[in-house]
Amino acid sequence: MSPSATMDPGLLEVRDLRKHYPTRQGWLGRSGAMVRAVDGVSFSIAAGETLGLVGESGCGKSTTAKLILRLQDPSAGQILWRGQHIEGLNQAGMRSVRRELQAVFQDPYSSLNPRIRAADIVAEPLRNYEALSTAQARERVASLFERVGLRPDQMLKYPFEFSGGQRQRLGIARALSVQPKLIVCDEPVSALDVSVQAQVINLMMDLQHEFGLSYLFVAHDLAVVEHISQRVAVMYLGRIVEIAPKRMIFTHPQHPYTEALLEAVPVPDPTARRQRRILGGDVPSPINPPSGCHFHTRCPYAEERCRREQPVMREVAAGQFAACHLREPLAAMPIG
Ligand code: SF4
Repeated sequence: MSPSATMDPGLLEVRDLRKHYPTRQGWLGRSGAMVRAVDGVSFSIAAGETLGLVGESGCGKSTTAKLILRLQDPSAGQILWRGQHIEGLNQAGMRSVRRELQAVFQDPYSSLNPRIRAADIVAEPLRNYEALSTAQARERVASLFERVGLRPDQMLKYPFEFSGGQRQRLGIARALSVQPKLIVCDEPVSALDVSVQAQVINLMMDLQHEFGLSYLFVAHDLAVVEHISQRVAVMYLGRIVEIAPKRMIFTHPQHPYTEALLEAVPVPDPTARRQRRILGGDVPSPINPPSGCHFHTRCPYAEERCRREQPVMREVAAGQFAACHLREPLAAMPIG
């Protein structure tokens, strides 16, 4: 059973998504090796749910986000938005989907046009979808400003006149302006100070409750993901290695890589710190990744079979899926 087959496919379903692209070699720019940035990713997100997508940098989580947003074309696989295939849609075909599927990016400064006033930045998507008078647009933008914790008198300012946290609030207001169903958030708080991170995360959670939003929340910070997510997917070298409800991931991780990520989180207890095992080595290159289980070059439990066979994703506890040869699949319930 696949992790996406166990629940209501809901809003978004991704099946065996792949993004491979050739490197360029030599001054003629000939195609060289293939980079397997995303290498067979499957999951779904239900209405009102937040799925956290975590992993070390370079694991393919941001590329997965870009593929879902159709900022990049997938090499293979399927993306279903409310049951409709969108992986092959052109820009015109994506228009109606984009209204419901919005994005918030890591660096609010580079994702906001520095020459446009804040009010126009927030109003831009709104004007793309609704014929509003200037007064109507202004009223809607003022209300969005207030909702995300900005003052209406800041509407005429330019992005550089806002702090980092305020710019991210501006990005959230822009995404919210068209009443989306799902927001893909790519490291939305990692450029912010810790105290500001908490404010922005709490704002996002409030907005989720108020508007019934879903989030795909891409981050490398496990504490942030634990705070905001209902389920968590762990990525390693282009593949999801474990996906489960948050509580199970953080209390009973089933994949050795998830274990290692959790053990790497600093804890204030010096005794516990001494007991931590630190994951050795760097993430291998997605060009020519290790055979079999991609994690075998760093896994303390690796055995011969791990070098040869790619482990399949299996349900190892109710609702918890892991791709590791050492994990037994959940026993089928006896009939009768
Ligand atoms: Fe480690 Fe083998 Fe499991 Fe991969 S399949 S995580 S190498 S034990």
